[in-house]
Amino acid sequence: MQAKFIVVLGSVMSGLGKGVVTSSILKILNMYGYKVLPIKFDGYLNYDCGTMNPYRHGEVFVLDDTSEVDMDFGTYERFLNTNLTKDSSITGGKLFSGIIDMERTGEYLGEDVQIVPHLTGYIQKKLQDFAKRNKVDFVVIEVGGTVGDLENGYFIEALRELALNSDVAFVDVTYLPKIAVVGEQKTKPAQFAFRTLMSTGILPDFLVCRGAENLSENARKKLSVQTSLPKEYIIDDPDMKSAYMVPELLMKQNFDKLLLSKFGIHDRKIDASKLGKWKKSVDKIVVGSERMERVRIAIVGKYVDLKDSYVSVREAIIHAGAALSVEPAIEWIESETLEKRSPSEVLAGVDGIIVPGGFGKRGIEGMINAIRYARENKIPYLGLCLGMQLMSIEFARNVCGLKGANSTEFDPKTKYNVIDLMQSQVGLDKKGATMRLGAWEMKINDKGSIAYSAYRKSIVSERHRHRYEFNNAFRKPLERNGLVVSATTRDGRLVEAVEWKDSFGIATQAHPELKSRIEAPAPLFVAFVDACKRNA
Ligand code: GLN
Repeated sequence: MQAKFIVVLGSVMSGLGKGVVTSSILKILNMYGYKVLPIKFDGYLNYDCGTMNPYRHGEVFVLDDTSEVDMDFGTYERFLNTNLTKDSSITGGKLFSGIIDMERTGEYLGEDVQIVPHLTGYIQKKLQDFAKRNKVDFVVIEVGGTVGDLENGYFIEALRELALNSDVAFVDVTYLPKIAVVGEQKTKPAQFAFRTLMSTGILPDFLVCRGAENLSENARKKLSVQTSLPKEYIIDDPDMKSAYMVPELLMKQNFDKLLLSKFGIHDRKIDASKLGKWKKSVDKIVVGSERMERVRIAIVGKYVDLKDSYVSVREAIIHAGAALSVEPAIEWIESETLEKRSPSEVLAGVDGIIVPGGFGKRGIEGMINAIRYARENKIPYLGLCLGMQLMSIEFARNVCGLKGANSTEFDPKTKYNVIDLMQSQVGLDKKGATMRLGAWEMKINDKGSIAYSAYRKSIVSERHRHRYEFNNAFRKPLERNGLVVSATTRDGRLVEAVEWKDSFGIATQAHPELKSRIEAPAPLFVAFVDACKRNA
């Protein structure tokens, strides 16, 4: 079948959960047995997400193939249970650098290179090539930003042109506010935004209405009149207990059938076993949670004010909780708090502690205080990347007596550089895409380790994103004092995981949260949440 395209656009404002709608469409089509892949367009001029602060744009997600991409990729992968590649990510930066390269090589000799038709043509070619190369039935394209933004205008124009010679359906994700004192859902912003989209020459096929509550019949009627869309093409998408409920929510409204019939597909049946498996995983999270035992997990980090900075960590905890029939209650702790107040006060009663990834000096000592508290009080601990580096530093300082031990990232002059710049990083002066990135295999050396009991195999692959590493000069002294180096790279040169002997504490240089899926929870998170459950 010739590839078909579904375009998801956002109007009124950003942050509506277009990523969840896109992921839900991908999941639904996948359960219908189609080969599907996403494309995410981001209008910024950065080449990729790698140089962005998570406070600005949420978590930087890393794919197996080393690309640093938008956090929406995490949602796509968690829903689809597939490893995506850099080809699914198109940014303004990549497009402009690509077209300028082509102009320089003489691709457009004699012409003045313009947004229309050259850039828009280039975008369409990219989309068609992507579909062909990957032999997909459907490409679901999420356009970042909001309709009406200058940043995505040329991309939307390219999609309008794409619809002239390909099968394309447009989905407008919009927002209906409700003013508390009036108590009525207001449709006006959605109406205006719909008109903005129509002024680009696109008539959306579906209007997905986000809001805190269910879409009222009155609002649906009004929107139908104003947009000329039949009522059943106006889809209700209220806040749900879990984003994983959205595929079923859409299907209950016949969205799947209406969407397929837009493409002339009327007789296709959903794969009952795939749907059954998905529903079972979602039920465990949603329905099960009402009966489940609660465990309190503290995430001690420096970007906690914006929860999007740690989405994958949160989701991995949710997946593991569902697998173990516990309801995790996450407590977000700003690490600097632990520099002013005592951990026994701030962390009182928590069943487990996580220190996630991060960069820069701020808040580091607070994280180290949290780790010390976990070790001394035998509270289960899981360290992720930075959390592994700090677990090693804490051990060096407080168990081995190496006063002032640190990472040269935070104290370039430290006498005990337990964590140091990786050899491969020395002399690099470019910051973009130069970290140790992507999937790397690690070897679990010790069958009695926490790592082995979690993964149940010796070679595992996890994603990475870091510049610093465990300094092997300190490996022997720390091991002699009881730190377990349970995993290394296959050549044994780089430490990949460390553990405590006396209680549950494990930390890895990798980011196992990036591979956790609702249908395949990350083993280390399952082991950790299990330890928290036993501690609760
Ligand atoms: N800042 C540390 C490094 O670059 C840790 C990185 C991370 O946590 N992703 O090595």
